[in-house]
Amino acid sequence: MNTKQASEVIQNGGIVAFPTETVYGLGADAWNPTAILKVFEAKGRPSDNPLIVHVNSENDIHDFAMDIPDKAHLLIEEFWPGPLTLVLKKRPEVLDAVTAGLETVALRMPDHKIARELIQLTGPLVAPSANHSGKPSPTRAEHVIEDFGDELLVIDGKATKIGLESTVVDLTDTVPSILRPGAVSRKQIEEVLGGF
Ligand code: AMP
Ligand code: MG
Repeated sequence: MNTKQASEVIQNGGIVAFPTETVYGLGADAWNPTAILKVFEAKGRPSDNPLIVHVNSENDIHDFAMDIPDKAHLLIEEFWPGPLTLVLKKRPEVLDAVTAGLETVALRMPDHKIARELIQLTGPLVAPSANHSGKPSPTRAEHVIEDFGDELLVIDGKATKIGLESTVVDLTDTVPSILRPGAVSRKQIEEVLGGF
């Protein structure tokens, strides 16, 4: 399946697995609650575990987040596209299915040609790792197929470059905090923000 076909499936409310530079993601339209429900159901993911919205430009974040601090722009400048997720104050329109009802939203721009093409054609996507909850995150299309069978549509982009989840940084408090360690280290983040 190619990105154009995958984009049509997602625009029609479906879900498709696709490669990013971290791991394979299970993508759905970030503005379609029914499609997002399918992601939770397919993964067996608890509904209180929020999703990361994957965007294609820094500009896209304004559709999801507000009161964006300067620290966010500094980190974006340095690490996007790439494996750094920013948690920011959400706009009221952002779906509860995405944020698990929180007042914050997580955003990242992936550094992968296929992922970026898909987001460009479709719009922002939620994309948790394409595995059943509790299983290892997939770094190859074959892993996704082993886990879900061949009913799930997968774009094959060979092995992912990093194979490790994105680092999640919360910027909604005066002092940033790392909610999940990942491919970008605390030291790298501190270097950009001048410590925290
Ligand atoms: P993943 O399971 O790779 O899709 O990443 C989702 C993870 O990102 C969640 O389990 C949280 O750790 C984090 N996350 C996503 N959205 C938020 C949010 N609004 N606030 C805090 N952490 C979030
Ligand atoms: Mg995961």
